[in-house]
Amino acid sequence: MFTFSLNIAVMKKINALLCLLCLTLIVSCSDSKKETQKEISIEKKKINDSLVKATIVIKYTTGEEVKEEVQVIQGTPGEVNSKLDSYKKQVLHEQGETAHAAHQEKQSQKTVKKLKFNLNPKSGSTANGSVMFTEENGQVTLEAHINGLTPGTHAIHVHEKADCSSEDGKSSGGHWNPTFAPHGAWGSETGFHRGDIGNFSADESGHGMITFSTDLWCIGCEDETKNLLGKAIIVHQGEDDLSSQPSGAAGARVSCAGIIQ
Ligand SMILES: [Zn+2]
Repeated sequence: MFTFSLNIAVMKKINALLCLLCLTLIVSCSDSKKETQKEISIEKKKINDSLVKATIVIKYTTGEEVKEEVQVIQGTPGEVNSKLDSYKKQVLHEQGETAHAAHQEKQSQKTVKKLKFNLNPKSGSTANGSVMFTEENGQVTLEAHINGLTPGTHAIHVHEKADCSSEDGKSSGGHWNPTFAPHGAWGSETGFHRGDIGNFSADESGHGMITFSTDLWCIGCEDETKNLLGKAIIVHQGEDDLSSQPSGAAGARVSCAGIIQ
């Protein structure tokens, strides 16, 4: 159930009597060209447990002239809130690039960081692909797609330097290990490197993919035991046995990508 109607400013007083839950938001913006001031006030009232009514009053002031516009929205709390959000955005955007609109945008912006880069063949292989890192709400997710592999199991690790210049990929150094732990399976009680992502498999066509998510990584934060920037992603010819030191005996490095911004 959802109704949306447009009236002239009268209903406010009647509604005020029924008011159980009121919320007033005043936003005022001025447009220097037309010198019109806009004031938005929103009152939310709880009608019963499943119905909420919101009254939006917009006051336009141009010099001496004052114009008022009233909109009433009624529905479930979820419906009303989402309608109010889109309505506020719409009204603020009509104002153009005002400070208020910019502020509103900034507030609603989520802090999502994304990095995407290519994996390039190493050690005479044809293994290439793409890697994407996404950081959201303190969690970093890796998604890698690799082609040109030999069918079967391959290890993938974060190595310590974003340097893929050498033909064998060894310029990227050893496994990224800022906590000085032994090599192992991710999450192992006996320890693991922060770069020990593990294994994935490639199909008969030589294509493989892996997704991996952790809150022990970050993209560009201050904590050097978590920061992925300046490291590298390495895909190996063989499988990580998750126990051999210092790197799981995974064989040659067949693809490399520097984690840089
Ligand atoms: Zn390792």
